[in-house]
Amino acid sequence: MKNAKLALSEKTQSPTVIQIGDRATVGGKDLLIVGGPCAVETLEQMQQVARHLSEAPVQLLRGGIYKPRTSPYSFQGLGDAGLTILSQVREESGIPTVTEVMSISQIEGIATHADMLQVGSRNMQNFDLLKALGHAGKPVLLKRGLAATLEEFIGAAEYILSHGNPNVVLCERGIRSFDSYTRNVLDLGAVVALKQLTHLPVIVDPSHAAGKRELVPHLTRAAIAAGADGAIVECHPEPDKSVSDARQALSLPEMVELVDSLRPIAAAVGRGVPVAQPARALSVA
Ligand code: PEP
Ligand code: MN
Repeated sequence: MKNAKLALSEKTQSPTVIQIGDRATVGGKDLLIVGGPCAVETLEQMQQVARHLSEAPVQLLRGGIYKPRTSPYSFQGLGDAGLTILSQVREESGIPTVTEVMSISQIEGIATHADMLQVGSRNMQNFDLLKALGHAGKPVLLKRGLAATLEEFIGAAEYILSHGNPNVVLCERGIRSFDSYTRNVLDLGAVVALKQLTHLPVIVDPSHAAGKRELVPHLTRAAIAAGADGAIVECHPEPDKSVSDARQALSLPEMVELVDSLRPIAAAVGRGVPVAQPARALSVA
């Protein structure tokens, strides 16, 4: 870690608490729970997700509009039309949003219409993008690269911090290993180490780690017990019909149940799960 300065914790420095939008925080006593589909597909889909998840509650809605897909022939995301949908649902529900930014040219639009910008695993070392996010004016959710060491991960965060943006949340999303039964391996040792090494909030993404929905709630609970500051979980009104990452998507009732199951675990480790806030215009069918 010899080249990192701003990301590392010092004996006197307290953990960084980051405000996201007008009602979510991460890094304090309350956990940050993020939910939503892998990809924004339709307005109705996102309205249904927002309506259901406001009960959970989740503090932040996710939904990809620019999707980094392994194959160029797979669904690439709705692009700008998806941003319009995400923005409308954010206005209607009052729930802040996070979505992935794949290139510098997308930063301005996303920073205008969403509350947090996600850097995907495949872009963790896109240094020009990281530098530009230093000036984005919104918090960044930085995912760990598929095979990144913790030194590389912290170095990537340092790029954003040193270019002027102090609001970086680290996300452990599973690292590649030899066994394809799970899509990746959720590295809980890394969660503990990152909490010790840095002052930044650390959340987990059990969905992309596991790749199988039946593993996701268990991994989420384990991560909270290990000291994670929250989780980002994929869920969908009709999981099997998800246009991407269907196999790992929870149903909306399963997501609500998961959030509920975190409460005793959070309490046991001195954390809390926020209660539902009064909904805004959530009368959408
Ligand atoms: C995602 O969150 O949809 C995603 C593509 O994640 P990752 O970059 O971790 O693969
Ligand atoms: Mn996904």
